Amino acid sequence: MLDIDNLYLEFPVYKGAIRVLNGVTIQVMPGEIVGIVGESGSGKSVTAMMSMRLIPQNSYRVRTGSVRKSGRNILQATEKEMRHIRGKDMAMIFQEPMTALNPTMRVGRQITNVIRRHTSLSAGQARERAIALLRDMHIADPVQIFDAYPFELSGGMRQRVMIALAFSCEPSLLIADEPTTALDVTVQKQVLMLLRERARKTGTAILLITHDMAVVSQFCERVYVMYAGSVVEQGITAQVIDRPAHPYTRGLLGGLPENAEPGSPLQAIAGQVPNLADLPGGCAFRNRCPLQGEPCSQIPPLMPLADQPGHTAACWMTAGEAAHV
Ligand code: ATP
Ligand code: MG
Repeated sequence: MLDIDNLYLEFPVYKGAIRVLNGVTIQVMPGEIVGIVGESGSGKSVTAMMSMRLIPQNSYRVRTGSVRKSGRNILQATEKEMRHIRGKDMAMIFQEPMTALNPTMRVGRQITNVIRRHTSLSAGQARERAIALLRDMHIADPVQIFDAYPFELSGGMRQRVMIALAFSCEPSLLIADEPTTALDVTVQKQVLMLLRERARKTGTAILLITHDMAVVSQFCERVYVMYAGSVVEQGITAQVIDRPAHPYTRGLLGGLPENAEPGSPLQAIAGQVPNLADLPGGCAFRNRCPLQGEPCSQIPPLMPLADQPGHTAACWMTAGEAAHV
């Protein structure tokens, strides 16, 4: 359904270019909940934005690769086609809903505008549909929220409104870029549960972007781990979490509170994400990697892992390892 194939993307800058995506391949099947996880700057948002072509076309260069949605070539679609696809076929929710909601317009009006742009419903029908959507978000008094301005709502309530807005045209794919990062943990969980419940009901697939492995483990069926513009590991969530193969994934998991010895500090991955304009040759993770060895001066491709169908990792040092527990 969403098919990003070997995408190399760069941003031209003065005297050169920053390579932001280095051959990213990501697929989302109908109805699936898929995660992309990685530290800040790994290219998660650029990948998400390119799926809906939300980056101005004159600001980036695609060296090779393609992005397809239900067979349609997103990189070559006209702006008119993209306007139709966005909202109707694919929707996106962002970390800070205040930036996506219009502050000067009542919430209900924003939802009915989207519904009316993509359907032939009358104003009255669109209003009913919007209120029903808000009720589906377990909002106790949807009429009151319908008439509210965004600033009158709490962060969690705003994110529920954003989800209602995203589902208003029953898209087949919803891309959620850190949708709950700004919320406290309990509200975060409620919002994620809501998202999943709605997606299950409508058959919508979700591509969920997060830096939090705990969110992936609770929420996603499959996961792609990104580092410095590359997918370094991917597979069924349970496999990746139970037997992480890439040292970077192991590092991300080592930082989870539930994996720490009681009383001991949480582990962080040493070092920082490298500057994309100046990546080390070979494996991009090598200067932070506890396992680095001689083969790491060559860029590792995603390699299958023994006895784990579909699970691949881009690490020479752990390739072919049967099980890491
Ligand atoms: P975060 O977790 O902080 O949201 P991310 O994984 O979403 O990080 P991206 O926003 O995708 O990271 O950015 C990847 C890289 O691309 C960063 O180094 C960023 O500086 C660079 N980048 C993003 N947009 C542009 C742009 N329009 N022009 C130049 N560089 C950009
Ligand atoms: Mg981001």
